[in-house]
Parts: sequence; structure tokens; C-alpha cells
Amino acid sequence: MSDDLYKKLKRLAAVETDQPLSKMTTLRIGGIAKYVVYPDSGIALDAVISLLKKENVPWKIIGKGSDLLCSDDPYDGVIIRLDRHFRSYYFDGCQVIAEAGASIIALSVDCAKNGLSGLEFASGIPGTVGGAVFMNAGAYRASMADILDEVFVYRDGKLEWISTEECRFSYRSSIFQEHRDWIIVAAKMTLEPKNSREIFDLMDDRRQRRMKSQPLDQPSCGSVFRNPDNINAWQLIDGIGYRGKRIGGAVVSDKHCNFILNTGDATACDYLRLATEIQEKVREKYGIELQLEMERFNWPQK
Ligand SMILES: Cc1cc2nc3c(=O)[nH]c(=O)nc-3n(C[C@H](O)[C@H](O)[C@H](O)COP(=O)(O)OP(=O)(O)OC[C@H]3O[C@@H](n4cnc5c(N)ncnc54)[C@H](O)[C@@H]3O)c2cc1C
Repeated sequence: MSDDLYKKLKRLAAVETDQPLSKMTTLRIGGIAKYVVYPDSGIALDAVISLLKKENVPWKIIGKGSDLLCSDDPYDGVIIRLDRHFRSYYFDGCQVIAEAGASIIALSVDCAKNGLSGLEFASGIPGTVGGAVFMNAGAYRASMADILDEVFVYRDGKLEWISTEECRFSYRSSIFQEHRDWIIVAAKMTLEPKNSREIFDLMDDRRQRRMKSQPLDQPSCGSVFRNPDNINAWQLIDGIGYRGKRIGGAVVSDKHCNFILNTGDATACDYLRLATEIQEKVREKYGIELQLEMERFNWPQK
């Protein structure tokens, strides 16, 4: 990629060069990204995307990188991050309008302070509002789709609000996964008034449950596999005897075996080999096809 592109990007937004994806993901794995840009307005975002399309340069939006398994290869494209400048939110009665780069944990805490209930499920999800909408993130039988009214989207050179029907939410899925060139810029949610103390009590209770059951002190990207119908993925992994199983620096957590941890020096290949072995053993023993929950990014096309 040319110096010329760097100069053109620099006119539109803050740009960093040669940044490790391992520093942009909660798993702490990933190769070097050629450019990382931080647009500071809708106009800058539009200009950056238009430039990259014109120059035919690959790009990828990353939130907190808490749902990404990046390869160790260099990424010869542009990472776009909204968590520096698109992270405001404001309250209007029971509605909250939040920009995509806002932390969903910070937002859930502020909703609780404002006596608004509905985002308690998100208080342990370490992503951005954009990533949570993209994934229809959820926990405790609740998900983003339950509280969203509209999503502000940049697509085909235009910014527009789209309805939740158009977002086609289902379990950890949304239309955004089919349209990788649409960018979630903000989200409008309606919550319910409730006593702040009660909301904080529920959040505390869940935080303690998470801390007891999940290995939150080591790098991971949360659950490795989606839960198949009627059974938890961790039960299947336990059933094949993979609790504590290690390949290189990647290890199945003893505490929660649907988590694979990076114990310090795991490569993307260690992680993927371990996940693939689990899929094979579970298929052999139970005839069930486990699906990865996180997204693989920057791997060679099959
Ligand atoms: C310890 C731990 C616990 C977790 N617990 C849960 C849980 O309980 N429930 C749950 O659902 N998930 C959970 N996760 C997974 C993850 O936190 C969520 O999926 C989260 O919503 C991802 O947000 P992110 O900002 O990190 O997205 P990223 O990982 O940065 O990106 C994920 C995808 O979203 C896309 N994306 C991000 N922002 C935008 C945007 N603005 N516009 C368009 N596309 C965008 C990216 O391009 C990428 O394809 C957990 C992860 C960890 C590490």
C-alpha cells in the first residue's frame, strides 16, 4: 500500500501505521495492521470510506475486538475505529441514543444511574455499542434486539435510521453480518424506569456469578462456540474430556470449558487448532456440529 494513501488518509482522520491487532483484541492475538484510522465525524467517516472504495483498499471496523479471532498474518488494509470519537450518548426520558464506539458496559452503568432498566444483561459484555448491535449480543435470555428501536447506519454513502425489523435480529445474528460494508454509527434504545438500587443489585449479582464461573483474568474472546439447541457447548466440551486441554499457548479453561484462553504466547493457529479439534471430537461423539461464536478475521480464503 502506497505512501500516497497514507497522505490522503491523514488529511481526513488521525492515522496510525503498523499497529498490532493483538493490542486491539481482548484475546491479545493478531498480526500487524498496516493502517488504523480514527474518523472524528460522520463527514470524515464518509470521506474515509469513499477514498478506500475508490482506491480499492480493504477495510474493517473494529470495536473493542472482543469477538474477533485475528490471524497472525499482517493485514494489508485499514482498520477503522470509532471508539475514540464516536462514544457519546444522551438520555431523553426513557430513551437513550448512543454512538457506536461507546462502551456497552459504561452505558449500562449510566443507564442504572439514571434509573433505567433493560441493559443490565450487557454490564459484563466488554464490547462497544456497534459491536453489540452487530452481534445482537446478549446474556441471561435478553439481547440488544429487546431494547433497540432504531439503528443509525452508514450505507451506500448515506446516513439513515433503520428499523429493528430491517436489522433482522436473531440469536447472535443481524443483517449487518450479511452487509459488511454497512457501518453502525449509533443506536436508539428504549428502557424502563426502575429504582437505581435494584438495577445495581441485579448487576452486582450477575457480576459475581460471572466472576465465579468465567476466567476473566486471562485473555479470551468469551464463549468459543454458540450453544446448540437444548444443550450448552461447555457440557459437550467437558464430555469429550477437553477441560484444561492445551495446544501451544492456547488452553481450554478449567473454570469454564467454553472459553479458550491465551496463556501469554498463544498464536492464532494454536487457538484455531484447539477449537477445530473440539469440533471434530464433539462431532464424532455426539453428532453435533459446534459453530464458532467469534468471527475469524484476516485468515486466508479457503
Ligand atoms: C470475557 C468476555 C465475555 C463475553 N460475554 C459475552 C456475553 O455474555 N454475551 C455476548 O453476546 N457476547 C459476549 N462476549 C463477546 C463480545 O464481547 C460481544 O460479541 C461484543 O458485542 C463484541 O463487541 P466489540 O465492540 O468488541 O466488537 P468487535 O469484536 O470489535 O467486532 C465484532 C464484529 O462487529 C463488527 N462491528 C463492530 N463495530 C461495528 C460498527 N460500528 N459497525 C459495523 N460493524 C461493526 C466488526 O467489524 C466485527 O465483524 C464476551 C467476550 C468476552 C471477551
